[in-house]
Amino acid sequence: MNLQWLTIELTTKCDLRCDHCFALAALESKNSISLDQAKLIATEGILAGFKKLHLTGGEVTLWKDFFSLVDFAFRIGYQSLFFNTHGGHLTREFCSKVASYGDKISLTISLNGNSEIHDASRGEGSYDSAIQGIQNAQEFGLSVEIFAVVGKRLLPLLPEFAHSLFSRFPKLHRLTLIQLHRVEDDFYDVSEDLLTPQDFISMIRSAAMLALYGYPIYILDNSLSNVVAQEIGLPYLPYSPNIEGEGRFVVLVDEKITNSHSSRAEYGYFKSGIFQEILGSESYKERTRDDDSICPTCNFLNQCRRAGNPRPSLPYMDDSKELYCKRVLSLLQEEMSIERT
Ligand code: SF4
Repeated sequence: MNLQWLTIELTTKCDLRCDHCFALAALESKNSISLDQAKLIATEGILAGFKKLHLTGGEVTLWKDFFSLVDFAFRIGYQSLFFNTHGGHLTREFCSKVASYGDKISLTISLNGNSEIHDASRGEGSYDSAIQGIQNAQEFGLSVEIFAVVGKRLLPLLPEFAHSLFSRFPKLHRLTLIQLHRVEDDFYDVSEDLLTPQDFISMIRSAAMLALYGYPIYILDNSLSNVVAQEIGLPYLPYSPNIEGEGRFVVLVDEKITNSHSSRAEYGYFKSGIFQEILGSESYKERTRDDDSICPTCNFLNQCRRAGNPRPSLPYMDDSKELYCKRVLSLLQEEMSIERT
């Protein structure tokens, strides 16, 4: 079993109110776990064989025991760790402390295009704070990946955004694009900014062209992107695994275990021995292997399997009841047959 990483959601508390936030969508009341509980979860992860730890929130830099947990994690055997932040609290002091762990720690900072789009979805002044955070992190030589949530507003600006970002911060590890989508029981209505199938194809086309020009671009956990890039003849993006891929667990702040942060489908609640129990369960194997109920009857099965898209898109990608993956590939097929005639 290829165990990728164990994620612990330390807190859903945050001083921003991003309109696409998974953590806000999940919990009405804001919560954090205790250091002792985080240590227990991390220890169970080591016993199950995880070597990489991922800390997420909410805003993890507001969780007061952050560095105590980091010290503990490396002491019990984790080899590397990464965390997500909006960047607003990445002071020079904080970055210097992170840098003291050398290349064992990396981080992602959220940035959504220009200040207008970023502040509209994350709050006034948050763009400037994130830029300052990136500057501080780069000053201390930290490995920084930018997370950008792509909705309709950012889509047409992607090339300009990527170019200006890497011109200003050439040492960034990569720019990772996350398709804006809904989640079950979501807190904010993002319907107007969701990517239609046509928009999705445009996003992959832009991203693949940027990759072709040498920009380090990655599409996060979206295996449909592999098929689209292949079908449009621009196979230049790194392989993107399916969001339900195996070898990852997320322990949410209420101790529910899922295999992605945006998923509400649970495997159970945290307890001793739970990870080994899940890994050996039939439901886990069924959820992470190639789909054998919908895909085999689909016209796009061969394209999907060839490009590494093992499962249908999750619900809530947009407001339609029909499968998003099928709509995207049908549209692409239509466009390409028109081009050929
Ligand atoms: S349902 Fe069809 S389009 Fe969707 S992943 Fe399966 S084979 Fe591909």
